[in-house]
Amino acid sequence: MPNGNGKPKVGFFSFASCEGCQLMVLECEEELLDLLGAIEIVNFREAMDKISDDYDIAFVEGSITTERDIEELKEIRAQAKILIALGACAWPGGLNMMKNFQDLTEVRKYVYGDKWAVHETIPARPIDAVVPVDYYVRGCPIDREEFLEVTKSLLLGKEPSIPNYPVCVECKLRENECRFLLGEICLGPIARAGCKAICPTFGTKCEGCRGLVDDPQINAQQEVLQEHGLSVKDILLEFRMFGGWYVGAGEPVGYPGLELAVGETEGQ
Ligand code: SF4
Ligand code: SF4
Ligand code: SF4
Repeated sequence: MPNGNGKPKVGFFSFASCEGCQLMVLECEEELLDLLGAIEIVNFREAMDKISDDYDIAFVEGSITTERDIEELKEIRAQAKILIALGACAWPGGLNMMKNFQDLTEVRKYVYGDKWAVHETIPARPIDAVVPVDYYVRGCPIDREEFLEVTKSLLLGKEPSIPNYPVCVECKLRENECRFLLGEICLGPIARAGCKAICPTFGTKCEGCRGLVDDPQINAQQEVLQEHGLSVKDILLEFRMFGGWYVGAGEPVGYPGLELAVGETEGQ
């Protein structure tokens, strides 16, 4: 993977998103300077004018919302030896999923006014619905430490250590009042931890921006669900906000451990 100067070349790419996750990368500041000793950034619109099609590692932010996006993403995948989804828009699809539950012509009129017809669109989708993804940096926005953990791990050729247990575990450690007790539906029992349960800690329910735990039918925080007489399926529809591609969107492609639930909610 290393190039002539011994450093792998890294590119950052952006599709439909607010680009907030790239800003989080820039906020790494000191650590980013250290990283620049080990990598060469050759493509990063938020930080530099230089653009190169010669890179080894691609960080891809944003969800895919046009046919042209699909072709561009395939070109990035063809070039990159390692492709990483950066943030919730890239995976599990992010807030762009919400348009999939609206009439797409009306969405275009709302956004583009009388120029709507020249702006094509397709149902928004996560990047791994189009190309294989090697690693995921999760969240809306991403967690800086997790970005550094994933990046350093892949430079060392080892698997990054990412939590695979529910947000409820971190939430209980912070001794938060459970949002279910306030009459809200919180995705904490099935959402993947790693954010230190920041939303319940600051007074809002978890929406699952980091995706779900692997195999949530088995690995959910069953104790919390049972306390409130709920099942995984009962709270799954809340995942439409960030994961609508997987739960009742236009063309759901399935989610590990959720095949039954996706089938049951499809078409709603
Ligand atoms: S995941 Fe959130 S912060 Fe990151 S680009 Fe998407 S909307 Fe912005
Ligand atoms: S359901 Fe939500 S608020 Fe309740 S413990 Fe789990 S993460 Fe915390
Ligand atoms: S609490 Fe839930 S929605 Fe909030 S940052 Fe964590 S995973 Fe995302």
